[in-house]
Amino acid sequence: MTGNEIRKKFLKYFKKYDHQIVRSSSLVPQDDPTLLFTNAGMVQFKRTFLGEEKRNYVRAATSQKCVRAGGKHNDLENVGYTARHHTFFEMLGNFSFGDYFKEKAIEFAWDLLTNGYALPVEKLWVSIYLDDDEAYDLWRKVTGIPEDRIVRFGEKDNFWSMGDTGPCGPCSEIHIDRGEKFGCGRPDCKIGCECDRYLEIWNLVFMQYNRDASGKMEPLPKPSIDTGMGLERIVSIIQNAPTNYDTDLMMPIIHKVENLSEKKLGESSDLDIAMKVIADHSRSAAFLIGDGVLPSNEGRGYVLRRIMRRAIRYGRNIGLTKPFLSETAGVVFDIMKSAYPDLSEAEAFITNVIRNEENRFSETLDTGLRLLNDTLSDVKAKGQTEVPGDVIFKLYDTYGFPVDIVRDVVRDEKMTLDMNGFDENMNKQREMSRSVATFSKTSDAYKNLSARGIKPEFVGYDRISCDSKVL
Ligand code: ATP
Ligand code: MG
Ligand code: MG
Ligand code: MG
Repeated sequence: MTGNEIRKKFLKYFKKYDHQIVRSSSLVPQDDPTLLFTNAGMVQFKRTFLGEEKRNYVRAATSQKCVRAGGKHNDLENVGYTARHHTFFEMLGNFSFGDYFKEKAIEFAWDLLTNGYALPVEKLWVSIYLDDDEAYDLWRKVTGIPEDRIVRFGEKDNFWSMGDTGPCGPCSEIHIDRGEKFGCGRPDCKIGCECDRYLEIWNLVFMQYNRDASGKMEPLPKPSIDTGMGLERIVSIIQNAPTNYDTDLMMPIIHKVENLSEKKLGESSDLDIAMKVIADHSRSAAFLIGDGVLPSNEGRGYVLRRIMRRAIRYGRNIGLTKPFLSETAGVVFDIMKSAYPDLSEAEAFITNVIRNEENRFSETLDTGLRLLNDTLSDVKAKGQTEVPGDVIFKLYDTYGFPVDIVRDVVRDEKMTLDMNGFDENMNKQREMSRSVATFSKTSDAYKNLSARGIKPEFVGYDRISCDSKVL
């Protein structure tokens, strides 16, 4: 089955059981300034769960575009290093708004996985919340899974809440044991280990309480269901692919990187990391821009900029010195156009935005990298391992180098960063620009530029610049 067929099968399955198929919402959450990006399927139904919005259906299913690259869920730095994390991914989900509850949710998930997708029953494991005996009994009754493949986890993994107050409840997750060769090899490796052996496939959230400001939890009159399964993960299992990247949803992008770089996946672990980062970030960039986010120095736009610059830097690592990101993103349209026709319509615009950002950053990337490498050599020559904060700040301030690029380079070199020093420099600069701002709102430099017909651009942190060169 192809990735597209696996997505379709999910939606068709739930449609058969009276679920309304709802389109994915935008990656930019509507009316929710607290959330950076849509990071789960339930986001578009938040108000329905809270009872603030009535819909004309009580069951729904979606394939939701998600980005986890900031805020509470941030997988940016996992990308390339684990088999299962992306910044952009699709979450398949079924929802019940006060309709069916635990038993039916378990039944649906198990039936689809074991019959629909034919996963091997003996490799599946289930986790439940500490005291959720009801879930334990239901898993035993509905699926017959042996006792020793049900484990109890605490709040961090198996209790879900929307915020400090509001609907919340225990959850149950279905994992698959991918076998020893996927494991970290530690003697204590078991389900719950951070490695990729016991791959978490599907999270079933049982929304059954309402938590008030004092922390007291009252049972909800109409408990609800919210589930999420990563499409790329279920595809990797069905296609017997060792990682999410080795699937037909991602491989064509990797092939493009291989062609451009004249290198092959699997040649070395550094190369693999770079190729996976580029493949992942190409998807995020295309989808974020498609949903109206533009690279900038603040908020969502800054996260997008960091993602693109990170991909470009990894490209340099594997010899991609010419702009490549718009080409790798181009492959994303081919793979995704049938599921997301809107994305294809915006292709020319998205390509342009990526190309501009890449041209703009390429100029400064080489200079910045040279400076960073010189610094690393100096630090090493002194027998030290920590990169000073003022250097990181200078790279950020002068060359627009996102700190996570520095972090990636430093991580490769097994060194550390002085982030306190970085913060001190940043605060000093903010204070300085504040005092300048009170002295004169429109500086002479600005006036001179305007007179010469040059349009300054806001680049964040109280500075103005032209084409990324600091005034
Ligand atoms: P993990 O423990 O592997 O980081 P999670 O517990 O953070 O996953 P949930 O918040 O429970 O994930 O999200 C529901 C499902 O979405 C997961 O079971 C997984 O299949 C998928 N998923 C979560 N994060 C990612 C990601 N970064 N990339 C791809 N799929 C993901
Ligand atoms: Mg996670
Ligand atoms: Mg988890
Ligand atoms: Mg989970």
